Amino acid sequence: MACLRTSPAVMTAMLELRPSCEHCNAALPPESTEARICSFECTFCAACVRDVLENVCPNCGGGFAPRPIRPAKNWKGDNFLGNDPAGTKVKHRPVDPATHAQFSARIKGIPPEKR
Ligand SMILES: [Zn+2]
Ligand SMILES: [Zn+2]
Repeated sequence: MACLRTSPAVMTAMLELRPSCEHCNAALPPESTEARICSFECTFCAACVRDVLENVCPNCGGGFAPRPIRPAKNWKGDNFLGNDPAGTKVKHRPVDPATHAQFSARIKGIPPEKR
């Protein structure tokens, strides 16, 4: 990641700021406080995580956390959006509510830290 420019291996692992919710396709610009991610960077809006996914990622079964906001200004060492912009590749894979309900039934009652 940009904070650790000396390590190329880490650079490739920088958080990908995806542009939209995977389920409803709502725009999630880098400054959005509505963006939620799982540990694999699956990206959804807060409403879908709450109402559709019930805090169970449809791809990995993990929980979600608010996506950190990358600074828009160059406060230090070029670690900002101007140097590492948000992603533009839309990933729209709507979840089938019935399929997800089945998948999440045995998972949602377990707190993410115990899954
Ligand atoms: Zn959504
Ligand atoms: Zn996931």
